[in-house]
Amino acid sequence: MTKPDHEVIVVGGGQAGLAVAYYLRRLGLDFLIVDAGDGPGGAWVHTWDSLHLFSPAAYSSLPGWPFPPGATDGYPTRDEVISYLTRYEARYDFPIDRPRTVGAVEREGTFLRIGFRDGGSLAARAVVSATGTWAAPFVPDYPGRELFEGVQLHSAHYRTPAAFAGKRVLIVGGGNSGAQLLAELSEVAQTTWMTLREPVFLPDDVDGRVLFERASARVRGIDDASSTTTIGDIVMVPPVKEARTRGVLKAVRPFARLIPGGVVWRDGTESTVDAIIWCTGFRPATDHLKPLGIVEPDGRIEVVEQRAVKEPRLWLAGYGNWTGAASATLLGAGRTAREMTPRLAQALAEAISAAP
Ligand code: FAD
Repeated sequence: MTKPDHEVIVVGGGQAGLAVAYYLRRLGLDFLIVDAGDGPGGAWVHTWDSLHLFSPAAYSSLPGWPFPPGATDGYPTRDEVISYLTRYEARYDFPIDRPRTVGAVEREGTFLRIGFRDGGSLAARAVVSATGTWAAPFVPDYPGRELFEGVQLHSAHYRTPAAFAGKRVLIVGGGNSGAQLLAELSEVAQTTWMTLREPVFLPDDVDGRVLFERASARVRGIDDASSTTTIGDIVMVPPVKEARTRGVLKAVRPFARLIPGGVVWRDGTESTVDAIIWCTGFRPATDHLKPLGIVEPDGRIEVVEQRAVKEPRLWLAGYGNWTGAASATLLGAGRTAREMTPRLAQALAEAISAAP
Protein backbone atom coordinates (compact mmCIF):
# COMPACT_ATOMS: atom_id res chain seq x y z
CA MET A 1 0.00 0.00 0.00
CA THR A 2 1.45 3.37 -0.96
CA LYS A 3 -1.26 5.63 0.36
CA PRO A 4 -2.91 5.36 3.77
CA ASP A 5 -6.67 5.76 4.33
CA HIS A 6 -5.91 9.00 6.19
CA GLU A 7 -2.74 10.86 6.93
CA VAL A 8 -3.72 11.14 10.60
CA ILE A 9 -6.24 9.18 12.64
CA VAL A 10 -7.21 10.60 16.01
CA VAL A 11 -8.47 7.88 18.35
CA GLY A 12 -10.90 9.49 20.80
CA GLY A 13 -13.34 12.35 20.20
CA GLY A 14 -13.38 13.92 23.66
CA GLN A 15 -12.00 17.37 24.32
CA ALA A 16 -8.36 16.31 23.73
CA GLY A 17 -9.19 14.79 20.33
CA LEU A 18 -11.23 17.84 19.33
CA ALA A 19 -8.46 20.24 20.30
CA VAL A 20 -6.00 18.27 18.18
CA ALA A 21 -8.52 18.27 15.30
CA TYR A 22 -8.81 22.05 15.50
CA TYR A 23 -5.10 22.50 14.85
CA LEU A 24 -4.85 19.68 12.29
CA ARG A 25 -7.57 21.48 10.34
CA ARG A 26 -5.71 24.76 10.58
CA LEU A 27 -2.59 23.06 9.26
CA GLY A 28 -4.60 21.67 6.34
CA LEU A 29 -3.90 18.02 7.17
CA ASP A 30 -6.12 15.10 6.19
CA PHE A 31 -7.49 13.42 9.32
CA LEU A 32 -10.34 11.36 10.76
CA ILE A 33 -11.48 11.11 14.37
CA VAL A 34 -12.76 7.72 15.50
CA ASP A 35 -14.58 7.66 18.80
CA ALA A 36 -16.14 4.93 20.92
CA GLY A 37 -18.81 7.24 22.37
CA ASP A 38 -22.45 7.08 21.24
CA GLY A 39 -22.42 10.87 20.93
CA PRO A 40 -20.27 13.93 21.65
CA GLY A 41 -18.91 14.83 25.08
CA GLY A 42 -16.21 12.24 25.82
CA ALA A 43 -16.04 11.26 29.49
CA TRP A 44 -18.31 14.09 30.55
CA VAL A 45 -21.41 12.10 29.52
CA HIS A 46 -20.49 9.46 32.11
CA THR A 47 -19.84 11.74 35.10
CA TRP A 48 -22.35 12.19 37.88
CA ASP A 49 -25.36 14.38 37.24
CA SER A 50 -24.53 17.17 39.71
CA LEU A 51 -20.84 17.57 38.79
CA HIS A 52 -19.50 21.11 38.86
CA LEU A 53 -16.22 21.93 37.17
CA PHE A 54 -13.45 23.20 39.39
CA SER A 55 -12.35 25.45 36.55
CA PRO A 56 -14.40 28.58 35.85
CA ALA A 57 -15.90 28.97 32.35
CA ALA A 58 -13.19 31.40 31.26
CA TYR A 59 -10.62 28.70 32.07
CA SER A 60 -12.49 25.89 30.33
CA SER A 61 -12.28 26.85 26.66
CA LEU A 62 -11.04 24.85 23.72
CA PRO A 63 -9.13 26.66 20.95
CA GLY A 64 -11.01 29.00 18.67
CA TRP A 65 -14.30 29.28 20.51
CA PRO A 66 -14.58 30.39 24.15
CA PHE A 67 -16.72 28.49 26.64
CA PRO A 68 -19.96 30.48 26.88
CA PRO A 69 -20.45 32.18 30.29
CA GLY A 70 -23.41 29.83 30.93
CA ALA A 71 -26.30 29.88 33.33
CA THR A 72 -24.20 29.44 36.49
CA ASP A 73 -21.73 32.28 36.27
CA GLY A 74 -19.06 30.53 38.32
CA TYR A 75 -18.29 26.89 37.61
CA PRO A 76 -19.99 25.22 34.62
CA THR A 77 -21.97 22.02 35.15
CA ARG A 78 -21.28 18.79 33.30
CA ASP A 79 -24.34 19.38 31.11
CA GLU A 80 -22.93 22.74 30.06
CA VAL A 81 -19.62 21.06 29.13
CA ILE A 82 -21.41 18.39 27.07
CA SER A 83 -23.41 21.08 25.31
CA TYR A 84 -20.23 23.08 24.63
CA LEU A 85 -18.38 20.06 23.20
CA THR A 86 -21.41 19.09 21.10
CA ARG A 87 -21.63 22.55 19.60
CA TYR A 88 -17.86 22.80 19.25
CA GLU A 89 -17.53 19.76 17.00
CA ALA A 90 -20.60 20.79 15.00
CA ARG A 91 -19.25 24.32 14.57
CA TYR A 92 -16.03 23.02 12.98
CA ASP A 93 -17.75 20.12 11.24
CA PHE A 94 -14.95 17.72 12.10
CA PRO A 95 -14.96 14.31 10.38
CA ILE A 96 -15.90 11.94 13.22
CA ASP A 97 -16.81 8.30 12.96
CA ARG A 98 -18.72 7.07 16.06
CA PRO A 99 -19.44 4.86 17.76
CA ARG A 100 -16.28 3.02 16.71
CA THR A 101 -14.05 1.43 19.30
CA VAL A 102 -10.44 0.80 18.40
CA GLY A 103 -9.35 -2.60 19.66
CA ALA A 104 -5.76 -2.58 18.44
CA VAL A 105 -3.17 -0.33 16.82
CA GLU A 106 -0.49 -2.26 14.99
CA ARG A 107 2.52 -1.57 12.78
CA GLU A 108 2.12 -2.21 9.05
CA GLY A 109 5.13 -1.19 7.02
CA THR A 110 5.38 2.58 7.03
CA PHE A 111 1.83 2.95 8.41
CA LEU A 112 -0.05 2.21 11.60
CA ARG A 113 -3.17 0.10 11.23
CA ILE A 114 -6.19 0.81 13.43
CA GLY A 115 -8.33 -2.27 14.00
CA PHE A 116 -11.93 -1.75 15.14
CA ARG A 117 -13.63 -4.03 17.66
CA ASP A 118 -16.66 -4.37 15.39
CA GLY A 119 -14.47 -5.36 12.45
CA GLY A 120 -12.67 -3.46 9.74
CA SER A 121 -9.52 -1.40 9.92
CA LEU A 122 -7.90 1.78 8.61
CA ALA A 123 -4.29 2.70 7.90
CA ALA A 124 -2.73 6.05 8.81
CA ARG A 125 0.68 7.61 8.55
CA ALA A 126 0.31 8.98 12.10
CA VAL A 127 -2.01 8.16 14.99
CA VAL A 128 -2.95 10.49 17.82
CA SER A 129 -4.26 8.56 20.80
CA ALA A 130 -6.65 10.73 22.84
CA THR A 131 -8.66 8.08 24.67
CA GLY A 132 -8.59 9.68 28.11
CA THR A 133 -8.75 7.79 31.37
CA TRP A 134 -12.44 7.23 32.06
CA ALA A 135 -12.36 3.67 30.67
CA ALA A 136 -9.59 2.72 33.15
CA PRO A 137 -10.80 3.52 36.68
CA PHE A 138 -8.23 2.77 39.37
CA VAL A 139 -9.09 1.11 42.68
CA PRO A 140 -6.29 0.58 45.21
CA ASP A 141 -5.73 -2.93 46.46
CA TYR A 142 -6.74 -2.89 50.14
CA PRO A 143 -6.57 -6.20 52.02
CA GLY A 144 -9.88 -8.05 52.07
CA ARG A 145 -11.45 -6.15 49.18
CA GLU A 146 -12.80 -9.37 47.73
CA LEU A 147 -14.42 -10.25 51.08
CA PHE A 148 -16.54 -7.10 51.37
CA GLU A 149 -20.20 -7.97 50.73
CA GLY A 150 -21.55 -4.45 50.32
CA VAL A 151 -21.69 -2.31 47.19
CA GLN A 152 -18.43 -1.07 45.68
CA LEU A 153 -18.56 1.61 43.03
CA HIS A 154 -15.89 3.72 41.38
CA SER A 155 -16.72 7.42 40.95
CA ALA A 156 -16.57 6.74 37.18
CA HIS A 157 -19.85 4.82 37.53
CA TYR A 158 -21.62 6.98 40.11
CA ARG A 159 -24.56 9.05 38.80
CA THR A 160 -26.97 10.07 41.60
CA PRO A 161 -27.26 9.63 45.39
CA ALA A 162 -30.72 8.01 45.28
CA ALA A 163 -29.54 4.40 45.70
CA PHE A 164 -27.57 5.32 48.83
CA ALA A 165 -30.35 7.02 50.82
CA GLY A 166 -30.25 5.92 54.47
CA LYS A 167 -27.11 3.78 53.93
CA ARG A 168 -23.68 3.87 55.62
CA VAL A 169 -21.36 5.01 52.85
CA LEU A 170 -17.57 5.19 52.91
CA ILE A 171 -16.12 7.64 50.39
CA VAL A 172 -12.46 7.00 49.62
CA GLY A 173 -10.20 9.62 48.06
CA GLY A 174 -9.08 13.14 48.87
CA GLY A 175 -9.41 14.96 45.56
CA ASN A 176 -12.20 16.99 44.00
CA SER A 177 -14.27 13.91 43.17
CA GLY A 178 -14.16 12.65 46.76
CA ALA A 179 -15.08 16.05 48.16
CA GLN A 180 -17.94 16.61 45.71
CA LEU A 181 -19.42 13.13 46.20
CA LEU A 182 -19.10 13.45 49.97
CA ALA A 183 -20.97 16.75 49.78
CA GLU A 184 -23.79 15.18 47.79
CA LEU A 185 -24.06 11.83 49.59
CA SER A 186 -23.89 13.33 53.08
CA GLU A 187 -27.29 14.90 52.43
CA VAL A 188 -28.99 11.50 52.19
CA ALA A 189 -26.62 8.95 53.75
CA GLN A 190 -24.44 8.42 56.81
CA THR A 191 -21.03 9.19 55.34
CA THR A 192 -17.40 8.63 56.32
CA TRP A 193 -14.67 10.22 54.21
CA MET A 194 -11.36 8.37 54.08
CA THR A 195 -8.24 9.98 52.62
CA LEU A 196 -4.56 9.00 52.65
CA ARG A 197 -3.62 12.31 54.23
CA GLU A 198 -5.44 15.42 55.36
CA PRO A 199 -7.22 16.86 52.27
CA VAL A 200 -5.94 20.20 50.98
CA PHE A 201 -8.73 22.77 50.54
CA LEU A 202 -8.06 25.87 48.51
CA PRO A 203 -9.11 29.12 50.18
CA ASP A 204 -12.69 30.12 49.34
CA ASP A 205 -11.58 33.04 47.21
CA VAL A 206 -9.19 30.88 45.13
CA ASP A 207 -10.77 29.02 42.25
CA GLY A 208 -9.49 26.38 39.86
CA ARG A 209 -7.59 28.83 37.66
CA VAL A 210 -4.71 28.89 40.15
CA LEU A 211 -4.26 25.15 39.61
CA PHE A 212 -3.84 25.67 35.87
CA GLU A 213 -1.45 28.55 36.29
CA ARG A 214 0.72 26.55 38.63
CA ALA A 215 0.65 23.38 36.50
CA SER A 216 1.75 25.43 33.48
CA ALA A 217 4.41 27.36 35.37
CA ARG A 218 5.85 24.12 36.71
CA VAL A 219 6.25 22.71 33.21
CA ARG A 220 7.86 25.95 32.02
CA GLY A 221 10.33 25.59 34.88
CA ILE A 222 9.22 28.72 36.72
CA ASP A 223 7.76 26.98 39.72
CA ASP A 224 7.12 29.04 42.83
CA ALA A 225 8.66 26.80 45.46
CA SER A 226 6.80 28.59 48.24
CA SER A 227 3.43 27.38 46.89
CA THR A 228 2.25 23.85 47.49
CA THR A 229 -0.90 24.03 45.34
CA THR A 230 -1.43 21.05 43.01
CA ILE A 231 -4.07 20.13 40.43
CA GLY A 232 -5.56 17.69 42.97
CA ASP A 233 -6.30 20.34 45.60
CA ILE A 234 -9.95 20.78 46.44
CA VAL A 235 -11.72 23.78 44.99
CA MET A 236 -14.48 25.10 47.23
CA VAL A 237 -17.30 24.88 44.69
CA PRO A 238 -20.72 25.76 46.20
CA PRO A 239 -21.80 22.21 47.22
CA VAL A 240 -18.47 21.59 48.97
CA LYS A 241 -18.74 24.91 50.85
CA GLU A 242 -22.23 23.97 51.88
CA ALA A 243 -21.00 20.58 53.17
CA ARG A 244 -18.45 22.40 55.28
CA THR A 245 -21.23 24.52 56.76
CA ARG A 246 -23.04 21.30 57.71
CA GLY A 247 -19.86 20.10 59.43
CA VAL A 248 -19.40 16.95 57.30
CA LEU A 249 -16.23 17.91 55.47
CA LYS A 250 -13.95 15.91 57.76
CA ALA A 251 -11.70 13.05 56.71
CA VAL A 252 -10.20 10.07 58.53
CA ARG A 253 -7.05 8.10 57.67
CA PRO A 254 -7.26 4.70 55.91
CA PHE A 255 -8.65 1.51 57.41
CA ALA A 256 -6.42 -1.53 57.83
CA ARG A 257 -8.59 -4.01 55.95
CA LEU A 258 -12.03 -4.85 54.66
CA ILE A 259 -14.30 -7.50 56.18
CA PRO A 260 -17.62 -8.82 54.85
CA GLY A 261 -19.72 -6.24 56.71
CA GLY A 262 -17.43 -3.24 56.66
CA VAL A 263 -13.93 -2.17 57.64
CA VAL A 264 -11.42 -2.64 60.44
CA TRP A 265 -9.54 0.56 61.36
CA ARG A 266 -5.89 0.64 62.30
CA ASP A 267 -6.72 0.80 66.02
CA GLY A 268 -8.66 -2.48 65.66
CA THR A 269 -12.17 -1.00 65.89
CA GLU A 270 -14.73 -2.04 63.26
CA SER A 271 -17.35 -0.03 61.36
CA THR A 272 -20.33 -1.39 59.47
CA VAL A 273 -20.36 -0.14 55.88
CA ASP A 274 -23.07 -0.68 53.24
CA ALA A 275 -21.28 0.89 50.31
CA ILE A 276 -17.83 2.11 49.31
CA ILE A 277 -17.38 4.77 46.65
CA TRP A 278 -13.83 4.72 45.31
CA CYS A 279 -12.85 8.25 44.23
CA THR A 280 -9.33 7.03 43.65
CA GLY A 281 -8.55 8.20 40.18
CA PHE A 282 -7.85 6.68 36.82
CA ARG A 283 -5.10 5.22 34.64
CA PRO A 284 -4.57 6.00 30.94
CA ALA A 285 -6.99 3.99 28.76
CA THR A 286 -4.30 2.63 26.45
CA ASP A 287 -5.20 -1.05 26.03
CA HIS A 288 -5.64 -0.50 22.28
CA LEU A 289 -1.93 0.40 22.09
CA LYS A 290 -0.70 -2.78 23.77
CA PRO A 291 -0.01 -4.61 20.46
CA LEU A 292 2.74 -2.03 19.86
CA GLY A 293 4.58 -3.39 22.92
CA ILE A 294 5.29 0.06 24.35
CA VAL A 295 2.69 0.41 27.14
CA GLU A 296 4.14 0.53 30.67
CA PRO A 297 2.41 -1.41 33.50
CA ASP A 298 0.69 1.80 34.68
CA GLY A 299 -0.79 2.41 31.21
CA ARG A 300 1.61 5.21 30.31
CA ILE A 301 3.89 5.35 27.28
CA GLU A 302 7.31 6.92 27.21
CA VAL A 303 6.98 10.20 25.34
CA VAL A 304 9.11 13.17 24.45
CA GLU A 305 6.93 16.18 23.74
CA GLN A 306 3.84 13.98 23.25
CA ARG A 307 5.52 11.71 20.69
CA ALA A 308 6.05 8.05 21.62
CA VAL A 309 9.76 7.37 21.92
CA LYS A 310 9.52 3.75 20.79
CA GLU A 311 6.92 4.35 18.04
CA PRO A 312 7.45 7.78 16.46
CA ARG A 313 4.26 7.55 14.37
CA LEU A 314 2.23 7.60 17.59
CA TRP A 315 1.34 10.80 19.45
CA LEU A 316 -0.43 11.13 22.78
CA ALA A 317 -2.96 13.85 23.68
CA GLY A 318 -4.71 14.33 27.03
CA TYR A 319 -4.22 11.79 29.87
CA GLY A 320 -2.36 14.08 32.30
CA ASN A 321 0.77 16.14 32.89
CA TRP A 322 3.01 13.46 31.41
CA THR A 323 1.75 14.44 27.93
CA GLY A 324 1.83 18.20 28.58
CA ALA A 325 0.87 20.68 31.28
CA ALA A 326 -2.66 19.97 32.50
CA SER A 327 -3.36 18.14 29.22
CA ALA A 328 -6.32 16.29 30.79
CA THR A 329 -8.20 19.54 31.38
CA LEU A 330 -10.24 21.61 28.94
CA LEU A 331 -7.82 24.50 28.81
CA GLY A 332 -4.72 22.30 28.86
CA ALA A 333 -6.06 20.17 25.96
CA GLY A 334 -5.92 23.20 23.68
CA ARG A 335 -2.50 24.34 24.78
CA THR A 336 -0.93 20.93 24.39
CA ALA A 337 -2.58 20.35 20.99
CA ARG A 338 -1.19 23.68 19.80
CA GLU A 339 2.31 22.56 20.80
CA MET A 340 2.02 19.05 19.37
CA THR A 341 0.45 19.57 15.95
CA PRO A 342 3.21 21.56 14.21
CA ARG A 343 5.68 18.85 15.24
CA LEU A 344 3.33 16.19 13.95
CA ALA A 345 2.94 18.09 10.66
CA GLN A 346 6.72 18.30 10.32
CA ALA A 347 7.11 14.56 10.96
CA LEU A 348 4.40 13.80 8.40
CA ALA A 349 6.05 15.97 5.77
CA GLU A 350 9.32 14.13 6.33
CA ALA A 351 7.59 10.73 6.15
CA ILE A 352 5.80 11.65 2.91
CA SER A 353 8.97 12.91 1.24
CA ALA A 354 10.81 9.74 2.31
CA ALA A 355 8.02 7.45 1.02
CA PRO A 356 8.81 5.39 -2.11
P1 FAD B 1 -12.22 11.73 27.44
O1 FAD B 1 -13.17 12.83 27.73
O2 FAD B 1 -12.28 10.51 28.28
O3 FAD B 1 -12.45 11.34 25.91
C1 FAD B 1 -11.86 10.20 25.39
C2 FAD B 1 -12.72 9.72 24.24
O4 FAD B 1 -12.06 8.61 23.68
C3 FAD B 1 -14.10 9.24 24.67
O5 FAD B 1 -15.08 9.79 23.82
C4 FAD B 1 -14.03 7.73 24.53
O6 FAD B 1 -15.26 7.15 24.15
C5 FAD B 1 -13.00 7.57 23.45
N1 FAD B 1 -12.29 6.30 23.51
C6 FAD B 1 -11.73 5.69 24.58
N2 FAD B 1 -11.17 4.53 24.23
C7 FAD B 1 -11.37 4.40 22.89
C8 FAD B 1 -11.02 3.42 21.93
N3 FAD B 1 -10.33 2.31 22.27
N4 FAD B 1 -11.41 3.60 20.65
C9 FAD B 1 -12.09 4.71 20.28
N5 FAD B 1 -12.43 5.69 21.16
C10 FAD B 1 -12.08 5.53 22.44
N6 FAD B 1 -11.15 19.38 33.64
C11 FAD B 1 -11.26 20.72 33.61
O7 FAD B 1 -10.71 21.36 32.71
N7 FAD B 1 -11.97 21.37 34.56
C12 FAD B 1 -12.63 20.73 35.53
O8 FAD B 1 -13.25 21.37 36.36
C13 FAD B 1 -12.58 19.30 35.57
N8 FAD B 1 -13.26 18.60 36.51
C14 FAD B 1 -13.20 17.26 36.50
C15 FAD B 1 -13.95 16.55 37.44
C16 FAD B 1 -13.93 15.17 37.43
C17 FAD B 1 -14.70 14.43 38.46
C18 FAD B 1 -13.17 14.47 36.48
C19 FAD B 1 -13.16 12.96 36.47
C20 FAD B 1 -12.44 15.16 35.54
C21 FAD B 1 -12.44 16.57 35.55
N9 FAD B 1 -11.70 17.29 34.63
C22 FAD B 1 -11.79 18.66 34.60
C23 FAD B 1 -10.71 16.61 33.77
C24 FAD B 1 -10.95 16.45 32.29
O9 FAD B 1 -11.49 17.59 31.70
C25 FAD B 1 -11.71 15.21 31.86
O10 FAD B 1 -11.20 14.05 32.45
C26 FAD B 1 -11.76 15.05 30.33
O11 FAD B 1 -12.87 14.27 30.06
C27 FAD B 1 -10.53 14.45 29.62
O12 FAD B 1 -10.72 14.60 28.21
P2 FAD B 1 -10.08 13.64 27.13
O13 FAD B 1 -10.56 14.10 25.81
O14 FAD B 1 -8.63 13.52 27.38
O15 FAD B 1 -10.70 12.21 27.49
